[in-house]
Amino acid sequence: MSLTSVGFDRTQLTMGDIASHSPIDGHLLGRVSSTTVAELDALLTQSVNAFHQWRTVPAPRRGELVRLFGAAVREHKKELAELITLEAGKINSEAAGEVQEIIDICDFAVGLSRQLYGLTITSERREHHLLERWHPLGPVGVITAFNFPMAVWAWNASLALICGDSLIWKPSEKTPLTALALSKILNNVCASFSDAPQGLSALIQGDRSIGEHLVKDPRVALLSATGSTRMGREVAGQVASRFGRSLLELGGNNAMIVSPSAREDLAVRAITFAVAATAGQRCTTLRRLYIHHSRYDAMVARLKKAFSSLRIGNPLADDTLVGPLIDESAFNAMQKALAAAKAAGAHITYGERVPVTHLEGGFYARPALVELESMVEVCKQETFAPILYVFRYEDLSDAIKENNGVAQGLSSSLMTQDLSESERFLSAEGSDCGIANINIGPSGAEIGGAFGGEKETGGGREAGSDSWKAYMRRQTQTINYSADLPLAQGVKFDIE
Ligand code: NAD
Repeated sequence: MSLTSVGFDRTQLTMGDIASHSPIDGHLLGRVSSTTVAELDALLTQSVNAFHQWRTVPAPRRGELVRLFGAAVREHKKELAELITLEAGKINSEAAGEVQEIIDICDFAVGLSRQLYGLTITSERREHHLLERWHPLGPVGVITAFNFPMAVWAWNASLALICGDSLIWKPSEKTPLTALALSKILNNVCASFSDAPQGLSALIQGDRSIGEHLVKDPRVALLSATGSTRMGREVAGQVASRFGRSLLELGGNNAMIVSPSAREDLAVRAITFAVAATAGQRCTTLRRLYIHHSRYDAMVARLKKAFSSLRIGNPLADDTLVGPLIDESAFNAMQKALAAAKAAGAHITYGERVPVTHLEGGFYARPALVELESMVEVCKQETFAPILYVFRYEDLSDAIKENNGVAQGLSSSLMTQDLSESERFLSAEGSDCGIANINIGPSGAEIGGAFGGEKETGGGREAGSDSWKAYMRRQTQTINYSADLPLAQGVKFDIE
């Protein structure tokens, strides 16, 4: 089974202003055309019409569409994963994991389509009762980043669809082909699903300029945007100014604390994966490490050994653990951050470009281990590359304070066997992040939990738990089945 069977053939993608280059070696994968403003306008009109029909389809039937979509993704798992590897540079196993995440969220959404629960609330008035009901919201605009070129859209799409919303997706201009392939799969499923209206799911291509039009359009009821904090700041302001709703999943600057009782093997593996996975280009990548002074020397020595043994190279090869950075500018940003750390007195191990035979056009780097006395300015920013800033700590309260001492608030973790430390970290006085883990790294979330972060990470929640509520509007309903009209709070208003 190949993706050409769903109408996707990248060898035919030879025209268009957006060139997709593989980070593996820089070769041209294909071209697509940017969506024009007029085309976007027509797609939005269609999306509003599609929403008006889709919202009347019973939610479990909407779930059936998502079930079929998930089944089609299962069928094409291998090809979709390969496309992620080619276009985003993820190693095979991580790319397959990303496709699995689509399948998982579809399964989750199918179950949820029978559980969009509201509340019944007792009334202060006789023979009255209150209800809280959830209704479909409207067209949902989804803007995604390059590093999870399929899964993040699928988190949004599967929930939005069962909630009765239509979709318009603007993927990253760095990963237009993965978006095209996945959209084709959903559109094919929609085409043979009698209740799916035309234009239920639309794809627009282009850079931020077409994204800005999507963001500003009042027909977009919810704008879900994943990307840098810079992008989120612009998007949030624009959506707020038209009183639209936004769901923001922005940059992270995640920390781990290694306490005196931490299991060393576990910590070394967790740290290395969380730094090196996706070549340090995950929003949940581990960027700051606080090691108890009693464990510091042994731990740093083991980490250096682990980093030096990482197999870096072609992500299509089965034994590779670290693939390329997305492009040259990502590599340059990494070197710039390392230079800033060095100027601030850091001791740096690794971080250099790694030559890979026959793949000279790709930018491969060994994850850098950067030892510092205390947090300096560059550690407070998210550099989207594999750089680990390492610090010593003496007291857990100080380490928690450092964990929380940056503007971002996505993910965090503590390695400990000490129950009281673990409980402190997870308490109201502990980590201030949207995600707090014990004895695993900050990266690699499951779809069952709500995913997202606080502060400059944007405050949005996607995927599991009750994240679906963001895709619906809440209505409070009061029903009077008496012959009287008592007013709330005992207010009297008698007319002749
Ligand atoms: P980016 O901000 O450069 O781009 C993300 C998307 O936003 C792209 O589609 C881009 O075209 C669009 N965009 C940029 N400016 C825009 C604007 N003003 N209006 C409308 N659209 C605009 O991010 P990137 O380099 O693709 O991805 C890396 C960033 O994404 C990192 O900061 C990472 O932490 C973050 N990220 C966060 C999460 C999360 O769930 N919190 C998940 C993945 C990635």
